Amino acid sequence: MNLILFGPPGAGKGTQSALLIERLGMRQISTGDLFRAAIKNQTKLGQEAKGYLDAGKLVPDSITIGLVEEVLLDLNGKSFILDGFPRNVTQAEALEQLLKALKLKVDKSVFLEVPMSMLLGRLTGRRVCKNCGTTYHIESKPTHKEGVCDVCGGPVIQRPDDKEDVIRTRLETYENSTRPLKDYYKAKGPYVEIDGTGTSEQVFERITRAIQVKA
Ligand code: AMP
Repeated sequence: MNLILFGPPGAGKGTQSALLIERLGMRQISTGDLFRAAIKNQTKLGQEAKGYLDAGKLVPDSITIGLVEEVLLDLNGKSFILDGFPRNVTQAEALEQLLKALKLKVDKSVFLEVPMSMLLGRLTGRRVCKNCGTTYHIESKPTHKEGVCDVCGGPVIQRPDDKEDVIRTRLETYENSTRPLKDYYKAKGPYVEIDGTGTSEQVFERITRAIQVKA
């Protein structure tokens, strides 16, 4: 079962991908995580991507598509979830070509719907462990000890692009570039829209029901 998981920033793509990989053994391909890791490790890719992430803008398609191609080539038969890719129609078309060349297919495109009015609060309150990437929220899922990850004891921080001014740019980028993908995937099918509000377990339940797997 190969999936595309998409939706606005703050819809819960990362959280749901983490649950899917933990319980169904899929491989997560998160372009955002890959860029952040490259920035942390100060690689050439990281240097190229940093300015875009800091500003809340999309990294150029040629860089992003090349990155995804590398990961797809390295799957070794594992099922995958694309989380945060594609983010515009150019990337979606490139993905189609890549999958064709690699004789792979996406079984379902899952769109996580969360009202715009909820996204700002979700994003400004989001915190993330610098070591293991576990995500928290200052109100709905706080750490037991302030600033310390419950899972690994690492420092829990706010992502630089989760500051309000950058979030506004990210939401704008989403509206202009990523939202049109809804129509693209609706037309291609199989496509499903999931209500992304409620607890992460509720959303996960909706997703597994929609993709018809037992977790
Ligand atoms: P995310 O973790 O998915 O919210 O992504 C964080 C940031 O990484 C985005 O704001 C972009 O700067 C960059 N990014 C992630 N995925 C893509 C993509 N598919 N295309 C271009 N930029 C991306």
